[in-house]
This record gives sequence, structure tokens and C-alpha cells, in this order.
Amino acid sequence: MKVTRRTLLRSALAVTAASTLPRFSFAAQSLELGTARIDTLSDGNLVLPLSFVSDDPKAAPILKDYGITGPEVEPPCNLTLYRDGTNAVLFDVGAGPDFMPSAGKLQAALDALEISRDDVTHVVFTHGHPDHLWGVLDDFDEAIFANAQHLMGKTEFDFWINPETVNTIDSGRTTFAAGALRRLQTLEDQITTFGDGEEILPGIASRMTPGHTPGHMSFEIRNGNTSALVTGDAIVNHYLAFAAPGLAAGSDQDPDLGAKTRVALLDQIASEKMPIIGFHLPEGGLGHAERVGDAYRYVPEV
Ligand SMILES: [Zn+2]
Repeated sequence: MKVTRRTLLRSALAVTAASTLPRFSFAAQSLELGTARIDTLSDGNLVLPLSFVSDDPKAAPILKDYGITGPEVEPPCNLTLYRDGTNAVLFDVGAGPDFMPSAGKLQAALDALEISRDDVTHVVFTHGHPDHLWGVLDDFDEAIFANAQHLMGKTEFDFWINPETVNTIDSGRTTFAAGALRRLQTLEDQITTFGDGEEILPGIASRMTPGHTPGHMSFEIRNGNTSALVTGDAIVNHYLAFAAPGLAAGSDQDPDLGAKTRVALLDQIASEKMPIIGFHLPEGGLGHAERVGDAYRYVPEV
């Protein structure tokens, strides 16, 4: 794997109000994968209460070690664009304008790379949370990526398209459910679903990684003899998720299942030395996991 380029986003930084200044200092990070190319595109960042990381008392000393002591965290958001010469596949679409003022900045990242929305041939969702899905429609409720085929794991799609989910999901996630339902219903005829372990596109295989959401998917991208794993939110930060993967994460809908998924995934990633692209990992989200005793350390590819 070779990191080829970092594209600075000076123009977007210049016009961003100080109060919502995102932590990213780039629009994209790139790497060559065989004869293909991956770019990670910044959608800005989220601002979340610390409880989204973990309420577990065992988390406190680890967070302190990483300098995370305030009431809020500001995770970056990184989308992945894979181009193999035939397809331009975008993993998740970002938050759009309606979730948080600090997120929904994808257009600036596309502009910096001189990529038109119309160039995107496929949109593949890791899961249905707002920061991954809500950027899918324009002001006219039509697909932002008008030429793209949209794909989502069947379990995930079935969960959010079910009108009952709004009533049954825990109260803190009701807006997530309502927002996903509206968008998926609008696009229902344009969405193709897939199962676990399928080659959904040439060189791209789905891998069910549930817990964060019921049908969360990761994706192994393979070109020639090189590969990388798009992990979405299965590994949701670069500190606690690596230092204590078995600890419950506040952002996981099913914390026990999320922890089980994370433990298994990190074991594989570290053993195979596989590069990952994490949606909320820092500096573009491209890195790998290094084993440290019973736990891991995140190593960025920069
Ligand atoms: Zn997320």
C-alpha cells in the first residue's frame, strides 16, 4: 500500500466559521491499491457527548491517557471512494445539510479532487445512521448521486425501512430512525440489497459486522494481491475501540454484539496486517492495527 497524496482544503477552511471549524486539514487522503485507487473524502466532523464513546467507568483512565477529558468529542467523518478504471464506488454519502453544522462537507472534498457527483457509479452504505446516509438526497428529494446504483445490506435496509422501528428503537435514536425511514422510502426503488459475504461489485466483498447497527457491513476491497477493509463504524474511534475493544461503546445499538464484532475484527486485521479505512478514524481514517498485549494500537498511514 502506498499513500500517494494528501489534498489540502484551504478554501473550505477559509470560509468555515470559527465556531464550527472542523479538525480536518485536508479534503482527501489517497492510496494505490493494485491498479486501482482509493481516496478518502472528508465530510467534516461530528460533535457528540462523551457518553457516545462509553459510559463504562473502565473507559475513564483510557480516555484520560488520550487527552479526552471534556464533555464532548469531535470525531472526523471520512468517506471512501474506490476507482478501478470502470467503477467509481462511494462508501456512504455523509450527513448532508440537516444533521450537524460541522458535517455534510462532502461537496468541498469532491471539488478539491475535481470529481463530479455524476462520475459516481455506485453508492454503497455501511449502515443507516445520519452521518452515513442523510446526505443521499438533494433539496428536491432526488438522489444526489443521480447516476449511481445504491446498495445497502438487506438486514440493515429491512431494519430502517420498517415503519415500526421508529416506535421500537430506544428514544435517543428516534430521529435516526425517522430520518432513515424517509430517505430509504424515497429511494426504495433505486436501492439494491445484498447479503453477507457477497461479491457486490468486482473486487468488493461484503462482511457483516453487526452491533453498531443490526446489519452494519464492512467491505473488503481487493485488487491484484492487495486489499483494504472499509470498516465503517465497526471500529468507531482510534482510542477506546483499539485500547479496550471488548468494552461497551455508547454509540453501538447492541453494545455486547458490537464488542464481539470489534474483538474479532481487530484480531483479523492485526494478524493479516490489513490496512483499514475507518469512517471516524483521524487524518483521513487510513491506518492499521498493531497488537499491544491483549489490546491494540491504531497506526495511521501518514
Ligand atoms: Zn458514524
